[in-house]
Amino acid sequence: AKKAVLGPLVGAVDQGTSSTRFLVFNSKTAELLSHHQVEIKQEFPREGWVEQDPKEILQSVYECIEKTCEKLGQLNIDISNIKAIGVSNQRETTVVWDKLTGEPLYNAVVWLDLRTQSTVENLSKRIPGNNNFVKSKTGLPLSTYFSAVKLRWLLDNVKKVQEAVEENRALFGTIDSWLIWSLTGGIHGGVHCTDVTNASRTMLFNIHSLEWDKELCEFFGIPMEILPNVRSSSEIYGLMKISHSLKAGALEGVPISGCLGDQSAALVGQMCFQDGQAKNTYGTGCFLLCNTGHKCVFSEHGLLTTVAYKLGRDKPVYYALEGSVAIAGAVIRWLRDNLGIIKSSEEIEKLAKEVGTSYGCYFVPAFSGLYAPYWEPSARGIICGLTQFTNKCHIAFAALEAVCFQTREILDAMNRDCGIPLSHLQVDGGMTSNKILMQLQADILYIPVVKPSMPETTALGAAMAAGAAEGVGVWSLEPEDLSAVTMERFEPQINAEESEIRYSTWKKAVMKSIGWVT
Ligand code: ADP
Repeated sequence: AKKAVLGPLVGAVDQGTSSTRFLVFNSKTAELLSHHQVEIKQEFPREGWVEQDPKEILQSVYECIEKTCEKLGQLNIDISNIKAIGVSNQRETTVVWDKLTGEPLYNAVVWLDLRTQSTVENLSKRIPGNNNFVKSKTGLPLSTYFSAVKLRWLLDNVKKVQEAVEENRALFGTIDSWLIWSLTGGIHGGVHCTDVTNASRTMLFNIHSLEWDKELCEFFGIPMEILPNVRSSSEIYGLMKISHSLKAGALEGVPISGCLGDQSAALVGQMCFQDGQAKNTYGTGCFLLCNTGHKCVFSEHGLLTTVAYKLGRDKPVYYALEGSVAIAGAVIRWLRDNLGIIKSSEEIEKLAKEVGTSYGCYFVPAFSGLYAPYWEPSARGIICGLTQFTNKCHIAFAALEAVCFQTREILDAMNRDCGIPLSHLQVDGGMTSNKILMQLQADILYIPVVKPSMPETTALGAAMAAGAAEGVGVWSLEPEDLSAVTMERFEPQINAEESEIRYSTWKKAVMKSIGWVT
């Protein structure tokens, strides 16, 4: 059959906490042509620990690239039209590997991991000057969440890491760095870099000067020579150089030219380029980011200040206020894997629909403590308000409601910090295919929830950054090219009073979860 004629294509790796995807877009229409997704394992070796295997992650990327290329072939689309590749990734997750062997020196310590609680306590006792030392430079509170403390833990506890650092063989990176280094050749000349958005989540990066911060590295005891080079989110970092074991060798030589942490990528993919535009992504966790333009806005209400994007070496940097919720989709995965009350994540919708209410049951999934706006490492999950009447459907409903209440809390904080309440909420992420969740969210926020019909906005953002890079130039970021996105809307259906009552009971439940561990 004749090959279909298309404009230039752009590929995107979307490496999330739950799964890896590779997607290919038409750069002229932003249409998604094909993709492949692989779920990845999470290991919980001890209470509070969360790890992933960096090699499994890399393998999953190869597999997704290969399968997507196969699917494109079946559609008669020539993969030599792929002109650039972008990378978007779970943020903060920390990897240290050996640059001579290419072997990871320990599992990836996942952002959700709590093992660094005592590391954080010890560090917080010796913060130099005022308590604002870390936050004023990084926009972040000292917490188990960010990479610096995870890296500190690896340096303190893993002999292989210590030896490799002493022998000048160690490289540190978040998942973007690990993937880009590997995909550009690994031990055969791989490029060790990251972008400003990922760097801003390490807690070692000065978000004003956009450089690694010497004082922070000293404070955390991190040798600066193991850190990757920091680049913009849209420029050519290197060319694909895939090992010969991979059939997708057809992408050999394609530039990797976009890199954004997943939440930044979603902000770009949702076209939130203006000051005050915001999106909420429902994946493993839930992350609401509001573009604050060129200004670093510091929150009074538990939100983070973070780098939103910098789309080119000579382009200005944009910042965002971020409300981070640790557990959203992860609670659904927990109901599936740990309790077994559902066999697939999608099934939650059926259970919730059967009852249409939690019947007074509240579920605070503080598995990894509470992030925004509380930042309470002492919190643990609770299910309360149970009666003899409660069944698994009510618990399923309460789990969905929990995601919506947590979003309400960060939206309230955002409104207080920004002063101008959002008129609607733009959403995306794996959980947004759940219609009950979306309707509940509109009911609990009492504003419309708006979802793009193409839900893969994270990958789209990474593809846009890659396609727009200098030297690639197949994607224009001019606003006129970005319109005509069709949306699905969910309007609030319950009254505001009812919504407030539910929300205040939720807050009571949150108070019960705090201080559970000391
Ligand atoms: P990540 O980017 O963190 O890997 P995704 O955006 O891929 O996450 O979303 C996956 C998460 O969404 C999983 O935790 C899964 O349990 C949850 N999820 C997927 N489909 C549904 C659904 N229909 N209802 C509720 N949760 C869902």
